[in-house]
Amino acid sequence: MCEPFSLSRREFLAGSLAAAALLPRAQASNKPQRSVADSDRALVAITLDLEMSRNFPTWETTQWDYEKGNLNAETKKYTVEACRRVKAHGGLVHCFAVGRVLEQENVDWLKEIVQAGHPVGNHTYDHVNVKATKPEDIQFRFRRAPWLISGKAPQEVIRENIRLTNAALKTRIGIDAAGFRTPGGFHNGLTDRPDVQRLLMDLGFEWVSSLYPSHPIGEAGKEPPAAVFEGIVKAQEAAQPFVYPSGLIEVPMNPISDISAFRGGRWRLEYFLKALRLAVEWAIEHRAVFDFLGHPSCLYVVDPDFRAIELICELVHQAGKRAGLVDLGTIAERAKLRKAKPATTQK
Ligand SMILES: [Zn+2]
Repeated sequence: MCEPFSLSRREFLAGSLAAAALLPRAQASNKPQRSVADSDRALVAITLDLEMSRNFPTWETTQWDYEKGNLNAETKKYTVEACRRVKAHGGLVHCFAVGRVLEQENVDWLKEIVQAGHPVGNHTYDHVNVKATKPEDIQFRFRRAPWLISGKAPQEVIRENIRLTNAALKTRIGIDAAGFRTPGGFHNGLTDRPDVQRLLMDLGFEWVSSLYPSHPIGEAGKEPPAAVFEGIVKAQEAAQPFVYPSGLIEVPMNPISDISAFRGGRWRLEYFLKALRLAVEWAIEHRAVFDFLGHPSCLYVVDPDFRAIELICELVHQAGKRAGLVDLGTIAERAKLRKAKPATTQK
């Protein structure tokens, strides 16, 4: 499922030359630095999904299932500060917004994030399940208010939900969506759904972030035993970028996410930080990819001092030339280069 992590020097050079030839100069200067050295270092991304999360700030909270984009003040404040901190460390945060965020009265905070250079991608309008084949499986909002989608096929609803988010980002913020992340992660990504891959490519996306591998989590509320941490490190291999036969690039999310840890495992922050440290260290050692998935709506409650984000930045900093803080577009580009091997090595 994954592309190999290491490249021969010949493949590496061939890929770099191909990329240099493909990338127009003007375009290259606008993008974050994507030097040939990317092939030789770990790529670490910090991504934040901008949506409200059930069970936060209190365990009983479930209203967000119906209004995922109605961000509260704390969530917006945390997002802004996280972006500021990562930029101070020389990196960028890759955000994914649900479209309904753009219905809020004031979106200046998001405009400021964009102006500072942080990319914002599409996370669908209502946080829909892109693999749904029945209307009732699409999203809670449409279960309560089925008239909103009556007479439409699920795939039509999903397509429109993604398209509207592109339109909202363009209209309200003035940007094109920087990639697509599926609500919820799938252990097999979109491997079983070439139709969804096609839909995303039709809508103009070159890459998707949909795969979140399975991993152990231990007993909820208990300190995870060593086997859980080992299992999380082992799962990193199953969360490396690759290209689907359709040509769509997959940029997986690397465990453990905040929601898995704090909702699924009901972990304490120290367990989360330990798992993150081990996973990022594995990525650096293997010159692989680590794509952190966080939700400000969860993190402002469980990690108000930004320790997870600071830890990741610190580990990358300590790694020197062996690692870089990048956006998901950079990771997708490297996956594409590795796929474009010399003809002699392809079947
Ligand atoms: Zn989400």
